[in-house]
Formats: sequence, structure tokens, C-alpha cells
Amino acid sequence: MKQGSLDMLGPTERRLWAAARVWAAHQVPYMASALLSLEPIVVDQLDLHPDQRLDLSALPVDQSWHVYLDPEVMSELDVPTTGFWLIHQVSHLLRHHGDRFPCREVSGHQAPVSEGNPDQRRWNTAADAEINDDLVAGTTKRPDGAVTPHALGLADGWTAEQYWDALGGAVDLQLPPGRLDDQSQGDCGSGCDGQGRPWDSDRSGLADAAQKLLEREVARQIKEHQQLYGNTPAGWQRWASELLEPTVRWQQVLAAAVRRGVADVAGRVDFSYRKPSRRSSISGDVILPSLRQPLPKVAMVLDTSGSMNDGMLAQSLAEVGGVLRSLGVGRRQLDIICCDAEAFEAQKVMQAKDVILLGGGGTDMGVGLAKAAELRPKPDLIVVLTDGHTPWPAAAPKGIRVIVGLMDPRGSVPEWARAIDIGAADAA
Ligand SMILES: [Zn+2]
Repeated sequence: MKQGSLDMLGPTERRLWAAARVWAAHQVPYMASALLSLEPIVVDQLDLHPDQRLDLSALPVDQSWHVYLDPEVMSELDVPTTGFWLIHQVSHLLRHHGDRFPCREVSGHQAPVSEGNPDQRRWNTAADAEINDDLVAGTTKRPDGAVTPHALGLADGWTAEQYWDALGGAVDLQLPPGRLDDQSQGDCGSGCDGQGRPWDSDRSGLADAAQKLLEREVARQIKEHQQLYGNTPAGWQRWASELLEPTVRWQQVLAAAVRRGVADVAGRVDFSYRKPSRRSSISGDVILPSLRQPLPKVAMVLDTSGSMNDGMLAQSLAEVGGVLRSLGVGRRQLDIICCDAEAFEAQKVMQAKDVILLGGGGTDMGVGLAKAAELRPKPDLIVVLTDGHTPWPAAAPKGIRVIVGLMDPRGSVPEWARAIDIGAADAA
């Protein structure tokens, strides 16, 4: 087996490679930068006995973004089929199928799928099903035999892990060594399951940091394309949203921080006799005090100074409002104070979108905190939404926890507050 660069290909195959990349970039323009990042490595197997040759018909990739081209395979392909496989393989890489292989830890074997490892073949099929329903949804022509959820008798739109579970034992994936049946799609390489292949090169490829940047770039392109044309496949839209808007993550952090605040409030135990405890029944006639868990009173301070973007602020406010509601903090327990260099009167609203954003001048969140601390009843928790370009007081208002939702990673947060990065991912 010999490996080398594109000049190991004949002129026809070299033209095919170039044309297929252009064709693919035309089909899925939002993935053009990813397609251009593939580094081709030619694998010539002519010195091997035909029985020993490995199946590179799917143009397999590795996790360093090398794509392996077998001149013999290329001589049989046309532009759309080659283009399809390039889009398909880039999809494996963008979706990190190599890191998601369920048997990753336990297997560690180096055998290519075409030599019949059932776990690898099952995962390859599952990952292909995750990718290909999106390719079918687009304008791309799918070669005969490329796995689709439909061909497996399963629904579209699942994750590879869901297809993996559904395929467990249901399909006979054990094939004779070196043989591929009509239903099979070939081996997508270590880029699909993270397990080495005999053809994998030790040349350094695309570094991890560059891969991360590339993923963000593709995700941005998907968003833009969706806005302009509205026809990006649903799976890719989800992928881009999860990558660019890790809202769930900061919302979870915020929820945990608020819950801790609630626990603190609940911790100010108030053994009250108002409501009999359920344990009363087993304690005879003695009425045990029940633990009252007061709902926390929350105030929000919104930075409405000139440096803040109203759209972003409204969006973050809506999301923070959602988190608080999910924790049981309703309108009665929530006061919202707009603050630039001065603090405005507190507003109690049903929905975040009903808040009237007042302000637009200089910035001093200290004034807003002071105003919130004066509210009666006194809040247990203050959530500040700000870009952090503000002076802060030396200490938190007495007896009140402060959580700062920071909308600009370059902004500052005082040590006495709990900082949660909001929208930091987009600024990166
Ligand atoms: Zn594949």
C-alpha cells in the first residue's frame, strides 16, 4: 500500500476530485469551508493482491480531516457520487461521530469495518442514518445503497445513538471479511468511529483548535443560509443551534445557582405549626412542626445603559424569566429594575417581553443593586443582566445573594457575586 498526495492520481481522477469538491460546495454552500478543509491522501493498493485490498469506496476520513482516495475507486465514480461522499464524510467529522462511538473504550481494535467488526458496522450504519436523512432532505442525490433511516425501517430525524439502539441485534451486520452486500455503504473510516484504520496516515492534519473554529464557521453559515433561503435540513439547523446557542447550558447553571439560593432561603428554617407534618400520624397525638419552605423573592436588575444591545437584553431577559418560572418564581416574587446610571422604579410583569426597557445613559449597577435591596419585602436573590462594563459596590447588599448574568466575557464581575456567562459563546 502506497500513500501520497494528489499527484499520485491520473489527470482524470484529479479532475474528478476537483470537480466533486466544487459540486459539493454548490449543493451545500454552508458547508463549503468544511469541504475545502479536507486534505486528500491517495492510497494506492495496486501492489496488494485483490483479496487483500481494503474497501475505500466511501472515501473514508480520519479525525484529522484527511480523506483517503483510492485511484481504483475514483476511476469508477462520477462527480455527483464523489460529491455525495465528500458531504457525507464531512458530516461525520462535524458531528463528531468518532468521539461518539459507543464501544470506543472497550474495543480499541484496529480492524477496518470491511473485515467485519459488528460493533463498528452497526455504528457506521447508525451514524450514516443520522447523516443521510438530512442529505436526502436537501437537493443532493444519494447513491444507491447509501443507508437511510427509511431503508432500515426507522423514522427520520433521530441521533446516531438512537439508531444504534434500534439496530441492536435487529439487523445482521456481520458480513464475510472483505465483502460488502448491496445494502452496505462501505467503511467511513476512523472519522466515523475513532478506531484506527490500516490506511490512516500519521501526517498531522487539522488541529483541534482549527476544527473548533471551522465548526463554528459552518454553524454560522448554516444560520445565515437558513435566514436567506429557509431550506437547510432540520438536522443541520439543530446542530448549528446547539453549537452556537448553548442556552441550555447557561440556563442550567443559572437554575442551579437560583436553586441554591432557594435552599439558602429554605435553610432559614422556620419551624412553624401552621400545617401539621405528615409524620404526625406516626407520632401519636403530638403535632410536629412542619418545615415551611418560603419561595424566594427575586429581583432582576437590567443594565439598560447605552453599551447594551436591546435585542440581546430582551432575549436574555426572556430566557432568565423562563428559568425563574420553571423554578416556581412567579410574577409576585419577581421585581424588575431597569438601571443605567440611575435605577428606575421596579416593574412587575407577567412576561419578560412586557418589561419597558428604560434608560440608555451611563452605567452604575451599584445603584440598581441598592434600589433592589430597598424593595419590601426584601429580595433573597438579585439577578443582574449586564455586559459588566460598570462600577460595582465593594460588597453585596446585606443578606442578599447576587447572580450576574454576564453578556460580554470582557466585562467585570465582583468577587461576591456568582457570575454566569450568557452569550459569551457568540462573542468568541
Ligand atoms: Zn458514513
